[in-house]
Amino acid sequence: MKKTLLTKALAPTAVAFVACAFGSPAMAAETKKELWQLAQETEVWEPVPPVVSAPEKGVPSDAVVLFNGKDLNQWESVNGGAAAWTLGKGAMTVAAGKGDIRTKESFCDVQLHIEWKTPNDIKGADGKLLEGQGRSNSGVFFQERYEIQVLDSHNNKTYPNGQAASVYKQTIPLANATRAPGEWQTYDIIFTSPKFDGDKLAKPGYVTVLHNGVLVQNHVEIQGATEWIGKPSYKAHGCAPIRLQDHGNPVSFRNIWLRKL
Ligand code: MG
Repeated sequence: MKKTLLTKALAPTAVAFVACAFGSPAMAAETKKELWQLAQETEVWEPVPPVVSAPEKGVPSDAVVLFNGKDLNQWESVNGGAAAWTLGKGAMTVAAGKGDIRTKESFCDVQLHIEWKTPNDIKGADGKLLEGQGRSNSGVFFQERYEIQVLDSHNNKTYPNGQAASVYKQTIPLANATRAPGEWQTYDIIFTSPKFDGDKLAKPGYVTVLHNGVLVQNHVEIQGATEWIGKPSYKAHGCAPIRLQDHGNPVSFRNIWLRKL
């Protein structure tokens, strides 16, 4: 209320007096500024952000499309040769035993969108319920080293630093936003790559993850390359591919794109 009254009292030609400290008091200069002139002093006009069109449920205009449901042209097997995962119904699905796949292109800092689905059937070939890390495990590896876990964590207990959306064996997600098996889910991930000065780590990597729109990793420091056994550590490297894990379970992926940051 006070602020409103003060503003009204000063309008329309509110003034700011700046007394010059030099010379005699009689020589003191006064500068009068209009409110709009004061406001203008904190306007920043450059740089102008590039225009990116972002259609609803579409792909931003400056994105690199890694998978549009039609082919695996952007991917290769880490064992050499073509990516040998199953293609169909606008998705690609892990072909157990065919190995991880990775992008042909290398990336540094990125914003990645990826959708994934775990199978409805949560029983193994022997008819037993799949549990823990054995239930629909896959993973999104940034620079082939740093894994954001993909797992059916819907009513499936495991160590929390290994559940869906964990930075595997490093950071527990802030929430479990996993949908039921058979439902499509989204990850939107902002990955800032580690920086190296020669062989030494200059700055660690960081990651932010939204799982189905829920913030689950908030600018978390990556401690090093993902390890199943032992502590993570860094070894210097450059930009590298995005890698998807074959953990022996038929997890599906679709609509994969990224923006280089
Ligand atoms: Mg995994």
